[in-house]
Parts: sequence; C-alpha cells; structure tokens
Amino acid sequence: MAVIFRKRLYLSKTKEKEDMRKESSGGSIVLQDDPRLGMQQWSGPRAFNNRYEPWESDSNHNQASNQMSSPINKTDRWEFPRHRLKFFNILGEGAFGQVWKCEATELNDKEGLSIVAVKTLKENANEKERSDLISELQVMKMLEPHPNVVRLLGCCTEKEPIFLIMEYVTKGKLQSYLRNSRAERYYNNMHGQSKSLTSRDLTSFVYQVAKGMDYLSINGIIHRDLAARNVLITEDHVCKVADFGFARDVIASHVYERKSEGRLPIRWMAPESLYDNIFSVKSDVWSFGILMWEVVTLGSTPYPGMSAAEVMKKVRDGYRLDKPEHCRRELYNIMYYCWDKDAKQRPSFAECVELLEKLLMTETDYIELERFPDHSYYNMVSLSGEKL
Ligand code: AMP
Repeated sequence: MAVIFRKRLYLSKTKEKEDMRKESSGGSIVLQDDPRLGMQQWSGPRAFNNRYEPWESDSNHNQASNQMSSPINKTDRWEFPRHRLKFFNILGEGAFGQVWKCEATELNDKEGLSIVAVKTLKENANEKERSDLISELQVMKMLEPHPNVVRLLGCCTEKEPIFLIMEYVTKGKLQSYLRNSRAERYYNNMHGQSKSLTSRDLTSFVYQVAKGMDYLSINGIIHRDLAARNVLITEDHVCKVADFGFARDVIASHVYERKSEGRLPIRWMAPESLYDNIFSVKSDVWSFGILMWEVVTLGSTPYPGMSAAEVMKKVRDGYRLDKPEHCRRELYNIMYYCWDKDAKQRPSFAECVELLEKLLMTETDYIELERFPDHSYYNMVSLSGEKL
C-alpha cells in the first residue's frame, strides 16, 4: 500500500522547472563509514539437494509479509506457483538479497523446463530492502519485453519469501565480464588468438545500454543506479539493463525525491543527485557517461585512487574523468557531453543512441585496446560502505 500511495503522491505533485525537483529536506550525503557493509556473512537459506529452504516459519517475517505483499494482486497474470521452481545455485548475493539459478516448469505457457534467475531476500533484510524488491517488481511489471532490458517472467508473492522470476542472462554482470576479459586479452596477446573483445564489441555494449535506457526513459522510468555492475550480458554479447531496485516510475513528475539514503553509488551520481537529491532521466544520462568510461577501461572503478569524499568535492568543482589514452576523442566527447553540469544540456538517451550508432557505422576503432594500459586502471574495494 505504502508504495502505491507514495507513487500517487509523486504523480500529484506539481511539475517544476524542467524535469526536476528538490527534496524538501534537502538532505546532503553522509558517507557511511561502516566497513562491514557489503561484507556480511550470509546466513540465510542454502541450496541442499537442489531444494530451497524457505524461512517462512519466522513469525516476524510473516507479519512483515502481510504488510508488504498487500499491494500485490495475488491473482495477477505474473503469479507463478512456487512449487514449480527448482533452485540450483546462487548466482550472486549482496548483503540482503540473493539471485538464484532455477528451473521453472511450464512457465508462461512454455512447455517443459526453462532456466530462469530468481531474486529474493535474505532473512536479515529489513523493510527498506523489502520495499525495494517490491518496487523493483512493480517497475518491471510495467515494461513490455525489450532486448536490452532484463525481462520479468513472473513472481511468487502470495507468501514469504517473495520471488522475482526473470530471464537468465548467461554471462552475468557486464562489470565482471569486462574485468575477466583483461586476462583473456593478455592470454590472447601471448598466443595470437582473437577471441578477446574488440573496439566494436565495446562500442556496441554502450550502444545497447543506451537503447535499453532510451526504452526505460520513454516509459517514464528513472533507474537511479545505472552502472556496469547493473548491466547483464549474454553469450551473444547482448547487454541488458537490470537491477531496478532503486528505479522509480516518475511518468507525471519526471522527478524522484529520495527519502532515505542507503549505500550510495557516489562515483556514478550526477552533482544534482549528490548535493540536492534530484534524480531525473538526465541524472541517469550522467551515470551512462560513467558507464561508458567503465566499458572503455574494461571495468575499472571510476576516479581510481580517489576517495568518495574527494570525488564528490572535485565533481562539484567541475573536475571530470580524463580521457583514457586509448580512447578516441569522438567517443570521449559523448561521455563528456553526458557530464554537463547543467542537466538540461546533457543529451537524451535517444541522442546517445544516435551518436553511438554513427560511430558504429564507421570502420574506425574508437577504443585502441592494444594501447590499453593495464597498470593505470584498477578495481577499488569499498571500505566506506560506498557502492562500487
Ligand atoms: P544483484 O543482486 O542484482 O546485483 O545480482 C547478483 C548477481 O546475480 C549478479 O552478480 C549477477 O551476476 C547475477 N544475476 C542477477 N540477475 C541475473 C540474471 N537475470 N541472470 C543471470 N545472472 C543474474
């Protein structure tokens, strides 16, 4: 109920200048200093003999479930009987959620078995994480299938734990895929094979993400956490925008007011999001520029060597990520355009698609991977609770 009510509230709010509004409390960001964040030991359900062990015996969770699952229509077309899901292994997990590889029997009129990915919460998840999963589901339900957006296949919400069933994307996160490709590149250089990623592959990855984001923005959705860690990739190099836990439907107001602050993806955030809590399609465009930089540097952490606090200050003062030496100006210009201080001056996703399409139509290598300096870019680990 709360989610829907909140949504109605946004819809009824008046439209202010351009696509934006400020949060009335004007809360600024407090960097969390808890090193345990993101390193918690998982003590939730485990897959023994392919069986998922639910935790519905816990009465607290049942209570919470009654409150949280109430907005969901139990008879909707997305509901899937949970006994037809067989859990295999965990594909990944965060502090409060997990994604499992599962087999679904007769899903969406498809005969036989389908391999799917199922997102759920761990037992230690609190109300905030639970409502994020429910909003993720609500947002995904609004979308028609698009090749560059991860597709919802169904859900189980009639009792705890809630399951969000989505298409299984074979190669997982784009961020890890890019990082792993560095070793491949090194190996191939030594052995003269040519299986490693090309400039064209990388340009096509960002082009596809722009297409997925264009589709979301047309549908009035802001993602708020666009980064290479939240894009999935298939064996055939199809990129799909995923992770709608923070996405919001802002179709009428075009803006989102952040109420509370969890772990923040500081290095991907536009200055107006960092300092004024303003989120819009144009702050997603800023994040897209950072994602382009991640792709060009094969998954490096943006602003390598700088602390989150330094990034915030320097970005506010006009500092921008440098052009990687192995990246041609034409491609860098697009990301730089996404980082205009004035959100209105940034391109739309449709324009990003157009600009990248033009580059893909030429034969030029915009990313000269043979010049990629492995030593200059690296992956940072989060010590301050920052989302990386
Ligand atoms: P998340 O909690 O959404 O960041 O997902 C955790 C991990 O699960 C990621 O590292 C992905 O590799 C994996 N994952 C998430 N969704 C899918 C999916 N639809 N298909 C395959 N793997 C996925």
